[in-house]
Amino acid sequence: MTPGIGVFDLFTVGIGPSSSHTVGPMRAAADFVSRIDADAANRVQVDLYGSLAATGRGHGTLTAVLLGLEGLEPDVVLPAQVEERTAAIADERRVRVGGTGEVPLCEDDVILHPLTILPGHTNGLRLRAWDAADVLLDDAVYYSTGGGFIVRDGEQAQAAATASVPFPFETAAELLAHCDREDLSMAEIQRRNELVSRTGDEIDGGILHLADVMSESVVSGASREGMLPGGLRVPRRAPAWRNRLRLDDPTGDDPALWQEWVNFVALAVNEENASGGRIVTAPTNGAAGIIPAVLHYATHYAAKGRSRDEVVIPFLLTAAAIGVLYKARASISGAEVGCQGEVGSASSMAAAGLAEVLGGTPRQVENAAEIAMEHNLGLTCDPIGGLVQIPCIERNAIAAAKAINAAKMALWGDGTHRVSLDEVIVTMRETGRDMSSKYKETALGGLAVSVVEC
Ligand code: SF4
Repeated sequence: MTPGIGVFDLFTVGIGPSSSHTVGPMRAAADFVSRIDADAANRVQVDLYGSLAATGRGHGTLTAVLLGLEGLEPDVVLPAQVEERTAAIADERRVRVGGTGEVPLCEDDVILHPLTILPGHTNGLRLRAWDAADVLLDDAVYYSTGGGFIVRDGEQAQAAATASVPFPFETAAELLAHCDREDLSMAEIQRRNELVSRTGDEIDGGILHLADVMSESVVSGASREGMLPGGLRVPRRAPAWRNRLRLDDPTGDDPALWQEWVNFVALAVNEENASGGRIVTAPTNGAAGIIPAVLHYATHYAAKGRSRDEVVIPFLLTAAAIGVLYKARASISGAEVGCQGEVGSASSMAAAGLAEVLGGTPRQVENAAEIAMEHNLGLTCDPIGGLVQIPCIERNAIAAAKAINAAKMALWGDGTHRVSLDEVIVTMRETGRDMSSKYKETALGGLAVSVVEC
């Protein structure tokens, strides 16, 4: 049996600031280089299209592609390595293709086509390489389809939830039917699907590693002072908030301050992301703070008394099961459906995870996911300056609060509700389809044009 998309596809370790505009393009370039004789490369041309070209500078796309051409992968590269190689490329105006062969290339050489949308997706990039005799080594178009996922033109996209797992599902109705028939939770259904490709220990260990990276990104985000990069002059707030919380709540578990802790975690992760730091894509970089923030609420307040593992593992498995639905039936890409696909999906996944670890039935969990997305429908993507800072950072804190409230509301019901999660997911997809491209990660509408950049 082959696995479908699962927890380790929806949650990956990567660098900021954007999964679709940084992580995906870096992966695409690294994939391109892995298929050619890197030592033979003498000339490389990079063309960016659509949203990648429109907001690529603010999202670090140009740097990401150049680093990917050097063979660096987003899940293993360290922020210090990124800084060092970015400075070297800018200085020498040369890229080490595949880490060895050098070609003349720097950010100024990347060709931008913001008004040209390639047929496969608005996030398109074309990579070409020639040898010393000017013979073409490869010519490939890639699409970055959101959440760090990539597709090479002409090749099959990664199958969604339908591959040969024991409990295939693409809709919440199918997922709930498995839960009913097997008398299992959503987390357990997802776990059994994951067991096709990993042992139980590997699943648990991998999930706990993701949670560790989430925690590390909070610590790192709270330790950097000053302004965020990019020229918008957005101050980092996480360090001051951490200091204040440590004074007001030294043990970190005062119930009166749960909201402030949740806000702090969301801000710290997203400031780390905006700084190009190491975070967990969950399921995108722009929305990376929501799940860690709600997970913090679960481990420190809601499910207090249970071990961290007992909370983290079912929380993230359930969130992944809901993420599969968005990936299969709609999109998690802001460039495709607006911010409802990024922040909305993350809020919905977090609500489901929280409801699960608080003992919700599968129908209550589905209800939590539905409520959270229902109140994110229509959310546009309008980052000022094309940077993942305003409105993105605060939006994560607000969406985390929505997720917590959605879970609480669902748990006070019996799971029956008028609008199903499947209906909301389809509505999100159709709303995204109707949304003007101005509001889909092009920085041409909304706050991106209403607020004068400094
Ligand atoms: S507005 Fe939303 S979708 Fe757009 S970059 Fe920010 S977090 Fe991502």
